[in-house]
Amino acid sequence: MSTRIVLLGATGSVGSAVVDVIVRHPEHFRVEAIVSGGSDVRALAAVAQRTGARFAAVADPARGAALKSALADAGLNIESGAGESAVNAAVDHDSDLVVAAIAGTAGLRATHRAIRPGRRIALANKETLVCAGEAFMRGAREAGVDILPLDSEHNALWQAMGAARPEDVEELVLTASGGPFLSWTAEAIAAATPEQALKHPNYSMGAKITIDSASMMNKGLEVIEAHHLFGIDRARLRVLVHPQQAVHGLVGFRDGSVVAGLAAPDMRIPAAHCLGLPGRLHTTLPRLDLAAFGRLDFIHADTARFPALALAFEALEAGGGMPTILNAANEIAVGAFLARRIGFGRIAGLVSEACEALSDRAGKAPASIPEALALDDEARGWARARLARCSAVA
Ligand code: NAD
Ligand code: MG
Repeated sequence: MSTRIVLLGATGSVGSAVVDVIVRHPEHFRVEAIVSGGSDVRALAAVAQRTGARFAAVADPARGAALKSALADAGLNIESGAGESAVNAAVDHDSDLVVAAIAGTAGLRATHRAIRPGRRIALANKETLVCAGEAFMRGAREAGVDILPLDSEHNALWQAMGAARPEDVEELVLTASGGPFLSWTAEAIAAATPEQALKHPNYSMGAKITIDSASMMNKGLEVIEAHHLFGIDRARLRVLVHPQQAVHGLVGFRDGSVVAGLAAPDMRIPAAHCLGLPGRLHTTLPRLDLAAFGRLDFIHADTARFPALALAFEALEAGGGMPTILNAANEIAVGAFLARRIGFGRIAGLVSEACEALSDRAGKAPASIPEALALDDEARGWARARLARCSAVA
């Protein structure tokens, strides 16, 4: 029987990787519903055409007619809708697996709604875990829903961990490419332009995560993500810069053994792993050629040049609502940087100020998704007001 899939964030970078795996194995999968933001209705119609999806939805309520005409132009006569109710209808379609690949906190509600007994969720949207990790994981546990880590480092760690118990794990190491600024001076990094920050050495990804990779905030968010996925505390989570991106994660066990997860740096590989479970799909995706690398390098992350990474570790250590505040302020800061309103060096500064200013709001972790979104909203409001004050002064 084929696996019935709902794909959230179908037109994005991860969404496209998942679509690629699906269309290479049509006998294994049936796509029930696809969702995107709405600025990309033609791309969504193309996904519908390639996958044979039965229902398509866009989050933007104003894009319903545009989606219908894009579907008609593609010669498709499937149901579609726009706005929150349509996204909910997509999530509610009967399915075995929901792929959560919407970018940013915008994906939180839909990802959380996907929790339903009898399903699995392949999770790429790390912001769900950073913003509302405790509430989300508790919901999943209570419903008996398995969360399959789709983010490449977490997927590697998960495979390396096997059936180990959390107490057997001495440390989890996430690797980072180091991004485009790996060898840049602090001054040069602070003055980097969006074009420079958008040039990731190994992956082609959405704009938000690419900027986060350049600041290393992405790795910081992934450390928090790992904490929630694997139940491993801050003291056992580490980051190593590994420019070749052959090793994605290492699990050190308390007996001294270390198991590493390796693969060619291609999101279709973790996607194929999640989609193939409980077995393995036979793919023709790029294979890792270690001899072609010749050598693999590992270096400590430099938190002086990449302060965002230190901020994320501090937020995880502080716990409670601090990661929610960190994530929200970071989304505002990245948006402002992409809009050329602030410099690259200001991203971490704004996040740090938000975490400090709202520290009294971070006492306990949000107990529910609405609570997480309320704190997220407050932190965004604070960060926006701070930016407005600064530009008024400038
Ligand atoms: P992207 O910007 O390429 O794609 C985002 C997708 O989300 C698009 O389909 C877009 O239409 C959709 N979307 C945006 N706003 C929406 C909304 N309000 N409602 C519904 N859909 C909406 O992003 P991406 O790089 O594919 O990343 C997606 C998620 O996966 C992020 O959380 C990212 O951190 C994570 N991730 C990405 C990669 C990667 O290689 N790109 C790897 C690991 C994890
Ligand atoms: Mg990753």
